[in-house]
Formats: sequence, structure tokens, C-alpha cells
Amino acid sequence: MPELPEVETVKNELSPYVIGRCVSGITLLWEGIVKEPSVDEFRSRLVGQRIAGIARRGKYLIFSLSGGDSLIVHLKMTGSLIVGRDLSEEPKFTRAIIHLDNGIHIFFRDPRKFGVLRLVRDSDSIVGKLGPEPLDADFTPQVLAQRLAKRKAPMKALLCDQNFIAGIGSMYADEALFATGIHPMRSAESLSNEEIEHLYKAIGEILWAAIENKGASVNTYFRPDGTKGTAHYEFKVAHRGGEPCVKCGTPIERVVVRGRGSYFCPRCQPEKP
Ligand SMILES: [Zn+2]
Repeated sequence: MPELPEVETVKNELSPYVIGRCVSGITLLWEGIVKEPSVDEFRSRLVGQRIAGIARRGKYLIFSLSGGDSLIVHLKMTGSLIVGRDLSEEPKFTRAIIHLDNGIHIFFRDPRKFGVLRLVRDSDSIVGKLGPEPLDADFTPQVLAQRLAKRKAPMKALLCDQNFIAGIGSMYADEALFATGIHPMRSAESLSNEEIEHLYKAIGEILWAAIENKGASVNTYFRPDGTKGTAHYEFKVAHRGGEPCVKCGTPIERVVVRGRGSYFCPRCQPEKP
């Protein structure tokens, strides 16, 4: 699933094609992709609006439009936004196409059909409840410590909870916990101050490095130009079940934490601190 670094990459690489451009048309190959408003209203309100800006909040992409609406895109499990100049370039599994007045087409490719398009007046109705952005200046070790205090939930579940912290999913949670030597099942309240400081630092370093590597293409994530990111080449545990730990050689294990497959090294990340 695309997480913060993947969505940030899509935002960065899409910007030069879309900022200041007018939406000249929309093709819905699968109408179920539109969550709100109705398909007819979505189409009529969107077409003709100019894209004033594009931002990311958590795993959401937010296109701010000249008419005051926001077009909010969630790529969910398998979505990608691919830029093309020719409709004959339509990728397989394209569910929607946004046509722009500069001749650019943005293909929303989504094999599993979990991706979502929304057109809303107030973007806070969708992203307002999200937790802090981990790369923002006001997200500090103190903020992380306050949010972890007295929480009994397993660390893996908390890091993936979008209302706890925005943008982190299974892959980067696994990487951050490995970097810190924290078992994915450990409860938040069991962390020492030193571990929290270390975790804070690891989250920032891992997310920035992944953005530099244009995201991780473990399965179906593509950059807007159709190429893959390389962040997964840096993964120490995520999706490396059975392979030797880079620190100690112990085979990486997988455990399910609240429904999420979680990769960890049983030696570097002991269950009891
Ligand atoms: Zn190890």
C-alpha cells in the first residue's frame, strides 16, 4: 500500500503537470471509484475548475481547485496516478482518467479497485481527524512521547493508526521498529524515554530516505512517469520474511498484529525489553 513517501513522491512528480491547469474532462471507467458526491455531481462540478495546488496529508492527495472545492484522492492498496500525453497510453486497470487543458491525461490505475476519489467543499471533513504529520517541524519527540503515554496498544498497531500519526503504514512501521529494536507487539507504555527518542529519529530518517528513493515498489506502486521507486531496496525487515537479519543473521519472522502482517528480527527486537 502506498504510504507517506509514495504519496509524497506522487505529489512532487505530478505537480509540474497539473498546477495551474484546468480540468477539461473526466472519464470514469469504473464509477464506484467516486465516493462523494454523486457521480453526476462529481463530474459536473469538477470539469472546468483550475487546479490551484496539490498537497499531501497522511496518505491523502489533495488537489485544491479554483472553485473552492478539493479533489481528494486515496490510492488505498494498489492505486497509482500515471501521467500520459496520449489516450492510447492508457495503462491496464485504469479506473478513471482526468483530462487537463494542456493535453495531459492522469490515469488512475487501480487493479484491486479500493482507490477513492472525493470532491468536497471542506477537506477537513476527510483529513481533519488525522494525527500529526511525522515530518512536520511541530512533530517533536515530546509530541510522540505524549501521544504514546498510557497507551496499551501494540506499537505496530499504533504506528499504523492514522489518527495516532498520519502517513505511516505497515512497511515503514516495521522499518522504524527494527531500527529501534522494538518488538511490534510491545505496548506503547513499555517504551523508555530513550527508546521514544530513538524511534522519533528513526521515523524521520526512514521516511526522508524513502522519499529520496521515490517510494517503495514492493508490489503495485508506480511513480507518475510509470517507473518504480527504489526505497524497498533499503528495507531491513519489511517483506523480507525468512531472509537473514542484516545485523545478526537471524531469519526475519512475520507475526500478525491486529490483522497486519509484521516483519521483525526476533533477536534484535525481543518481546520483553
Ligand atoms: Zn537481528
